[in-house]
Amino acid sequence: MQNRLIISEVSCQSIINRSRIPGLDYTINPYTGCQHGCIYCYARFMIKYTHHQTEWGSFIDVKINGPEVLKKQLTKLSRGLVSLSTVTDPYQASENRYQITRKILIELLKHRFPVSILTKSNLVLRDIDVLKQFDQNACEVGFSINTLDENIRNHFEPHAPSIQKRIESLKILHKEGIKTWVFLAPILPVLTTNSLNPLLDEIKNNVDYVLVDRLNIKCGNWNRIAKVITKEYPSLFPIWQKNCFSKEKQNACYHDIRKKIDDYCRRNNWRVQFC
Ligand code: SF4
Repeated sequence: MQNRLIISEVSCQSIINRSRIPGLDYTINPYTGCQHGCIYCYARFMIKYTHHQTEWGSFIDVKINGPEVLKKQLTKLSRGLVSLSTVTDPYQASENRYQITRKILIELLKHRFPVSILTKSNLVLRDIDVLKQFDQNACEVGFSINTLDENIRNHFEPHAPSIQKRIESLKILHKEGIKTWVFLAPILPVLTTNSLNPLLDEIKNNVDYVLVDRLNIKCGNWNRIAKVITKEYPSLFPIWQKNCFSKEKQNACYHDIRKKIDDYCRRNNWRVQFC
């Protein structure tokens, strides 16, 4: 059960930013904060841009005028690929009520800006009607999935929708002709590796490509990760500690899993990218 969530409605001056991520021109974050509160999340650095003193995952600021602001901003920008989102989940549960993401999508559609969505939530299915109006290849939906094990999901992503719901949503969107992808990240030492092939088998016919990234220890996420590992996987603690703090060890582990994924994808003639 999630502790009390603090929801604030805020006005923003600007909602679309230039992206520094290769391949993405702009980013839009309809919310500041994220109620999924993933243990490993390093978007927690966003706390410093808010007045909140509480833990990451316990608050969200809703950019209530975001769609109107975007409407004005889009008329002054050259067209480019927009990421929804980089430091929040655009389909966290509050989106059900506020519909900021939906209104933003409608503005992007009107101005013919292509969009790449990344979420952990099946709520994205609500917007299929909008997604299907984008030109082919001008809209894609990605789901973050790094295990098939709901216990592991529950330990690391305590307030995010189940893996099962994400995979069901992926299949529905793919069947509807929307480009889909999986962000296989973060790779959790030992835990992701153990269930890698069943996970790849499960998604392979329902995605256009996979993007893979390692676990990055930054922005103060280690304290919460260490607590989870100590409590739930005590025998793995020394491995995680070594893996997360020795660059050499981490590179070696990432190299191994990268090779496994690469081999699998080559065998299946399937596109994969590594961060
Ligand atoms: S869903 Fe993404 S942004 Fe939200 S807490 Fe999890 S990792 Fe962070």
